[in-house]
Amino acid sequence: MAIIGFIGLGNMGRPMVRNLLKAGYRVRAFDLSTTACEQAAADGAEIADNLAAAVTGADAVITMLPAGAHVRSVYLGEEGVLTSGAGNALLIDCSTIDVETAREVQRAAADKGAQMVDAPVSGGVGGAEAGQLTIMVGGEDTAVERARPFLEPVSRLIVHAGGPGNGQAAKACNNMLLGITMIGACEAFVLGEKLGLDHEKLFEVTANASGQCWSISSYCPVAGPVPGSPANNDYKAGFTAAMMLKDLRLAQEAAQHNDAATPLGAQAQAIYSMFNAAGNGDLDFSAIIRFLRGGG
Ligand code: NAD
Repeated sequence: MAIIGFIGLGNMGRPMVRNLLKAGYRVRAFDLSTTACEQAAADGAEIADNLAAAVTGADAVITMLPAGAHVRSVYLGEEGVLTSGAGNALLIDCSTIDVETAREVQRAAADKGAQMVDAPVSGGVGGAEAGQLTIMVGGEDTAVERARPFLEPVSRLIVHAGGPGNGQAAKACNNMLLGITMIGACEAFVLGEKLGLDHEKLFEVTANASGQCWSISSYCPVAGPVPGSPANNDYKAGFTAAMMLKDLRLAQEAAQHNDAATPLGAQAQAIYSMFNAAGNGDLDFSAIIRFLRGGG
């Protein structure tokens, strides 16, 4: 039975581990949080005392960490994955981080003779629980093919987006577009309210006419038309406004480094910055409609 060293047992990592266990993998898990380790142990994972113990002798290492700095320290740090005997393990970073760090860590892995891919995910905690994530993978062909059996139990779609870092690039582009379309969807509903349009009527039109987009048809930011959307549950996340701001920042960073004009991405970042600064970071990102109505 193949062994996976899994680092980062948070909101996303824990359900991913559950699905890997269900698929028959042995999972040796590690997290800095004792509570997270206890929860993963209750799910059936073996808990390692430290990072090195989790990765030594593993067939694959999967990391699901908050940001680039954590990924850098877990892979490149003094007792990191690349210094502590990951041997021939395939390295898979599923965290959402900046493209530059993803490429730097993959170069460091290649220098040590290890194969690595960046494999950020889309689909949120619900997708992780259901094993239905969309995964954007960057890396050499052989590394991506090696990664597939480890990613299949947690995903519904795996897209090989290109060479090292291209998974992160695809994620940054997608989530920038999502932030922009959510603000656009909310503006349409706010204007419709002022014009006396019924939410259901505006939904019926926009979901079937040229304004159609995922932010309306699958995740409508007003209560009613899409029963499962967070608007029906007082904007309980879902995908938090804090996460959206993080991803918009990553996209702007990438745009600046690469001289790409993304004025709407920049505006979306500014709007989500204000929304987060007003204390709304834990709400679902579709709650931005409240801000656009002038209600903070
Ligand atoms: P989280 O904060 O819930 O979990 C991260 C875990 O990493 C924590 O348990 C933390 O203790 C652990 N950790 C941090 N540094 C560590 C280290 N050095 N060694 C071991 N463990 C360490 O975050 P999350 O919501 O699970 O998100 C993880 C990643 O997935 C992020 O990059 C996020 O952007 C991305 N993502 C999240 C969502 C979502 O909806 N939550 C959706 C898509 C992508």
